[in-house]
Amino acid sequence: MKASENQQAGLLSLGNLDAEISRAKSTLTELTSGKSTKDMRELNLKLAGELIEARNQLDSVELELKRAETDLQTVEQRIEKDNARLSTTSNSKDAQGIQSELATLTKRKSELEDMELAILEKKDEVAAVFAEVQARKTLNENELREAEAKIEAEVLKQRSGLDLMVQQRAQQSTQLPVELLELYEKKAARGIAIGRLIGRECGACRISLGATAYAEIQALPSDDIATCPDCQAILVR
Ligand SMILES: [Zn+2]
Repeated sequence: MKASENQQAGLLSLGNLDAEISRAKSTLTELTSGKSTKDMRELNLKLAGELIEARNQLDSVELELKRAETDLQTVEQRIEKDNARLSTTSNSKDAQGIQSELATLTKRKSELEDMELAILEKKDEVAAVFAEVQARKTLNENELREAEAKIEAEVLKQRSGLDLMVQQRAQQSTQLPVELLELYEKKAARGIAIGRLIGRECGACRISLGATAYAEIQALPSDDIATCPDCQAILVR
């Protein structure tokens, strides 16, 4: 097939554009695959689970504390009542009974107070764990949001670049003969369709031509299409 040097140069430029389009497409695929944020998204799920667990523990300690406080209140009310009864009774036997009950209640009160303190300490620990997990989750969420925003901006940039190249390609291809484009498309379906001959090296497959093949190509008229004997790409001299 014949093609003028200009047409061959136009086709080579089209080939370069196609390579760029293909690179932009794989960049977009990579960007939208979510691969780069996978770890952060997984960590977020894990932290969400840990946060629920910590919240549950905090709830259960708070319930325990409420129960201890109610118990303590009941004991304190009974002590108050007993003290009032003791101050009004004149019966020594009754007074003895009340005093013995008061001793038991005082002991119980002291136990409940110790228990309340222990629960308060535990609550502090559990609350600290909850706050720590929450802080880590917030940090990770912020990092994830930031990374996703960056990806989104890059995707928009790549997409507009790709649109531009596709328009450019459509425009460039109208300037080339249909048969030449068909030949190019056929070769492109199998691999790199076109390359420049740099020295003796094929720009498509990077293999150096043998002396005979090189001499044959050099002998071709400039409007003859040369083909790489190794990769079958169109060779532009
Ligand atoms: Zn080649």
